[in-house]
Amino acid sequence: MSIPFLTFTCDSCDYYSSSFVTFGEFLWNYDGQTFNFDRQLGLCQDCKEIVAMEKLPDADVMDRARKLHATYTGPRLFLFQEKDEAKYLASQEGFNVLERVMGLRRPPVCLKCGGSDVQPLVLPEVPNGAKGTDMARTPLVVKHPGCGGQLQAKGSGGLRISLAPVTYYFGVDGKAFATLQNSPSPREEKLPAPPRLPTKPLTRSQDWRPDWGAFVKRGKAVEITFEDPKFNVSPKVDVVEEWEGCFRIFGFAFSDVLYWGDLFEGEFDGSSSIHFKRLLDRPEYSHFSGRLPPLGASVPHAHGEWISKFPYLQRAFQVGGYWEYNALFGLYVVIPEKCLSDFPEFEGHTPDTLNEPPDNVEILKPQPVIHEGRISTRRLYSSGSSVAADKDRNRRIRKLISKMPD
Ligand SMILES: [Zn+2]
Ligand SMILES: [Zn+2]
Repeated sequence: MSIPFLTFTCDSCDYYSSSFVTFGEFLWNYDGQTFNFDRQLGLCQDCKEIVAMEKLPDADVMDRARKLHATYTGPRLFLFQEKDEAKYLASQEGFNVLERVMGLRRPPVCLKCGGSDVQPLVLPEVPNGAKGTDMARTPLVVKHPGCGGQLQAKGSGGLRISLAPVTYYFGVDGKAFATLQNSPSPREEKLPAPPRLPTKPLTRSQDWRPDWGAFVKRGKAVEITFEDPKFNVSPKVDVVEEWEGCFRIFGFAFSDVLYWGDLFEGEFDGSSSIHFKRLLDRPEYSHFSGRLPPLGASVPHAHGEWISKFPYLQRAFQVGGYWEYNALFGLYVVIPEKCLSDFPEFEGHTPDTLNEPPDNVEILKPQPVIHEGRISTRRLYSSGSSVAADKDRNRRIRKLISKMPD
């Protein structure tokens, strides 16, 4: 996408920013749904700079949107084609996420720090018919917070810049928790078909890192079943469909043959279980499970308590690893193999060694279509998830968000 823009500078310091701070998709995430919300340029006194801030509809617009939404059956409208803001809002997906945000009766917040000491940026007026992005350097009516210099704006004129798509995720409180770079729009997203690899052996990718943005959007808790039922995993395991029919494990796998991070091919039953076919990738991580805090230490409860007691857990996350604590299996920590030497906490500890699961590809029969007229295979993140599974997923997302590094 190639777009003209504004640059912002200060006459007393070397501050430099641009209107690109509002570029991208901004989504509130709540209860398994997202709402693509509007934002504007703002000046944040806490960030001391020009930021993207939420743009919340007025109460009367929201009232009308609510009434329209109750009976709206048309397509999703875009802001540039629908001038009636209420009608535009009523046509959007995830309307109850917007309801939730408006129900909090909070002021719009800075989308950088989540704080409310932020005001919409008033841009200089341009003569009728002229474009703001053509303006010469013009002082703004506000001072640079913390510096006192005069902020000024300048249009890019003919200069345009291409930006890769980016999606930002926020809670209903307006606090950011995930950013997805280079992502296609969630609504247009299509998973690529898996590479054809009938005889390709298991890979050991060295640079795979969890994509938590994809987890937030498409993660799901499922049971994993095997041709040999002794390998079946009955507690739910978090997975993300990375390619069509190929699933990556994003949590402790409760398994004798599967780890966090494993990518496998499988058959999703359309609701809550995946029949395992074969392992495709086992990234180079060391897994330590069953670890408990040292004797005499009480087991922390809150996430913050864990990382203040054991700062290496936060570091594990930062280098692309993972950790979780469960009363059943204790503390599970995953560290990239090449970073292991930076974790003296694991010196002398033997990582878990699991066998590779047997391939089921040979013995797998094509599944008969049971319900006539219905598709027999479903994508993981399309319909077909039960309310309970969604709740479970939301609980896991909340857990994940609490773990994300700051
Ligand atoms: Zn300044
Ligand atoms: Zn801020």
